[in-house]
Amino acid sequence: MLWKNLQQKYALTDQGVKNVQRGAFWTVIVNIVVMGGMGILYLLMERYMDTLTIGGALPKALPYLALLLGFLALSLLTHLQQYRATYGLVYGEVKAVRIGLAERLRKLPLGWFGKRDLADLTETVMGDVNRLEHVWSHCLGYLYGSYVSTAIVAVCLFLYDWRLALACLWGVPVAFGLLFGSRKLAKQNSERAKAAALQVSDGIQETLESIREIRATNQEERFLRELNEKIDRSERVQIRGELSTGIFVNAASVIMRLGVATTIMVGTGLILSGQIRFMLLFLFLLVITRVYAPFDQALALIAEMFVSQVSANRLLEIQKTRTAEGAEKFFPQGHDIEFRDVRFSYDDKEVLKGVSFTAKEGQVTALVGPSGSGKSTCARLAARLWDVEGGSVLLGGVDISTVDPEVLLTDYSMVFQDVVLFDDTVMENIRLGRRGATDEAVRSAAKAANCDEFVEKLPHGYATAIGENGAKLSGGERQRISIARALLKDAPIVLLDEATASLDVENETEVQGALSRLLAGKTVLVIAHRMRTVQNADKIVVLSDGRVAEQGSPEELMAKRNGVFARMAQLQSVSTGWKL
Ligand code: ADP
Repeated sequence: MLWKNLQQKYALTDQGVKNVQRGAFWTVIVNIVVMGGMGILYLLMERYMDTLTIGGALPKALPYLALLLGFLALSLLTHLQQYRATYGLVYGEVKAVRIGLAERLRKLPLGWFGKRDLADLTETVMGDVNRLEHVWSHCLGYLYGSYVSTAIVAVCLFLYDWRLALACLWGVPVAFGLLFGSRKLAKQNSERAKAAALQVSDGIQETLESIREIRATNQEERFLRELNEKIDRSERVQIRGELSTGIFVNAASVIMRLGVATTIMVGTGLILSGQIRFMLLFLFLLVITRVYAPFDQALALIAEMFVSQVSANRLLEIQKTRTAEGAEKFFPQGHDIEFRDVRFSYDDKEVLKGVSFTAKEGQVTALVGPSGSGKSTCARLAARLWDVEGGSVLLGGVDISTVDPEVLLTDYSMVFQDVVLFDDTVMENIRLGRRGATDEAVRSAAKAANCDEFVEKLPHGYATAIGENGAKLSGGERQRISIARALLKDAPIVLLDEATASLDVENETEVQGALSRLLAGKTVLVIAHRMRTVQNADKIVVLSDGRVAEQGSPEELMAKRNGVFARMAQLQSVSTGWKL
């Protein structure tokens, strides 16, 4: 029960709980061994003091020396074990947690990423895990071990002399009470500090990302001022938080130490009234310094543990989010994509309100409609980048929500507006389309996508590194790389956001050529922006306000009087001079 609770609270894995138990066990042993050392010291002092006060021969030093050496060896061994159990094992655990987190992120539906921004996510994977690592390694085992060993020592002290024990230990529960009382405040402070720190990293990221626009519009000063304000605020919140935690921790520590004074007062009274010997008071004074030591550290740790719970909650949120999973093998009958009464919302905003249509294999199905009508959303749902909320999407008769997204995506090529390129060579960026493809295959895909010409002009040809997210390439070039990737992959389904191709005005026909090679014989779902594509499509699905307004072949729709599509086509041909 306690362990389950602990596991929940600090986002520990099963192995992590075992590590904490082991750490606690060895902390108990270490504390008891150290107390044993105190015992030896006490015996030695008692013997020598007796010689002074009662008289007689000095005791033999050798047996004590041997005892002391034995104790030292034991202490070394147990400390080593404790070190291994508390610190060593935890580092393995941290690695497992980070890998687990990465695995989980891989399986989370993409919609989840839309809700969290990148700085926030990076902070969880790096910062939160680091903070928890410290708690797992330095706090939990140590703290629980200290509870147990102090309880054991307290029982022994009470058996020895309950009056002195009380005088010595009353401060411990009071100090902990005070600290637990301040728990809510610490948590609040930590949440505030976290939010302020996130704003800072967000601000820095935003500034870096939009540096070009900022410079171009002379907004440096405003951005810097805002960033400085955020940093100042974060600093203030942080200092306030640390201060209030510091006050409570120090107050608790002082209260605990008052026990030394009360022990001396009570002890002196008891000695004067002849109820105890001086040596007993001496023993208590010796022992309480050791009783306080782990608690002193524990007090600081508890404050850290309160604070770390914010991190743990953030980690747990990721671990609890439902992953998009499914069968690793699926057997579709052909590659028709069918939307059956599909509903979908972003947050609370319903974007698709019961969409039904079929995109047939070997045909081009064009999604048209005004901006914001849900075209891109349909394309994303078709590849299970998000899960539908109502209805279903079928691929060759198989509901795609039952198929593992990674497996499913092997059947899809996507050429979207936001092409993601990596800071690697052109060759490797295209090879992403099919892992293990030969250089030859990559080159011929690049040629088919009309990349050849601009790649040859790069300083090292295909071996040229293209900068982070393709910063060194023009929009059209990036798009063509993405088409080359898709050609290399040669998946039976192609999702295409056509704005892509329209970027490349300089050699539009070539890109069209590349696209027609890519699309031949596939199930093609295209978000169409240009009339020419729409005209050449086999089927048109007109979306309007999250519903299918019309669907059919271009001719059928054009023939409809007052049809939405016919009206749109007319408007576009007037505004752009295009003729259908
Ligand atoms: P289209 O492709 O037809 O322009 P979209 O499918 O991109 O339309 O968007 C449909 C609606 O959903 C729009 O109102 C848009 O603002 C909203 N939307 C799109 N993506 C997101 C997102 N990641 N989070 C929240 N709302 C979104």
